Amino acid sequence: MKHDFKTLRLDRITRNFGGPASASGVAPLPALGGLTMNIARGEFIALLGPSGCGKSTALNCLSGLLALSSGAIYLDELRIDTLPPEQRGFGMVFQNYALFPHMTVAKNVGFGLLMRGVASSEIETRVKRALDLVQLAMHANKLPGQLSGGQQQRVAIARAIVIEPPLILMDEPLSNLDAKLRLEMRSEIRRIHGELGRTTIYVTHDQDEALSLADRIVVMKDGLVQQVGTPQEVYGQPANLSVARFMGYRN
Ligand code: ADP
Ligand code: MG
Repeated sequence: MKHDFKTLRLDRITRNFGGPASASGVAPLPALGGLTMNIARGEFIALLGPSGCGKSTALNCLSGLLALSSGAIYLDELRIDTLPPEQRGFGMVFQNYALFPHMTVAKNVGFGLLMRGVASSEIETRVKRALDLVQLAMHANKLPGQLSGGQQQRVAIARAIVIEPPLILMDEPLSNLDAKLRLEMRSEIRRIHGELGRTTIYVTHDQDEALSLADRIVVMKDGLVQQVGTPQEVYGQPANLSVARFMGYRN
């Protein structure tokens, strides 16, 4: 997959889950009712909104885990929404880490490379580099269960970046961590993005997280985009009352 793309382009992407019409015959709202935006290479984008607003649906449409109901996704002129997830090759980080419990940290991180047929000497080099980047080199031979939640999430981040994906997708990666670790990991994610400059799309329901991490924030509600803007714009000039309310709340 192209690494030197200029623009990731989402063109009116939607996703419905069908389901029965209500008694009045009204079809259920789409989970994602239409998202259009251009994302430049290297940008850190946060998808922000309350639970159920369609953030994960949008992210899973990008990764290919979910098919679009309509619309298209392009890396420059290359249309990618018709490709299966493995051909898109994006790095994914989930809330629950999704590590293999019986494999060492190093094996977890190298697994994707092994599956791609990368030679073992190169796997070793790349795993070491990724573990250095997330500052876990000294834990390479431990099992995930021997690590803290924050360390396990750093393993998951190393596993996503080791494949050198054009795009990193993170779905509420910090929401299983306690408040102190969440803050630590926030700076960790900012540092890693600073060092790698890899295009990142980061799903969160936490306003502070989005404001402190993202170059631009996409505020969503009921499957629809309410506003796209820099943290200053979204916080300082909310586009409507619902954005203003959402940005005003703190948890
Ligand atoms: P978020 O990640 O913002 O919490 P989701 O994208 O998970 O929201 O969900 C958006 C909406 O789509 C919700 O109403 C949810 O119930 C619905 N939804 C998500 N996944 C499915 C599914 N597999 N089947 C049916 N409905 C779904
Ligand atoms: Mg979600």
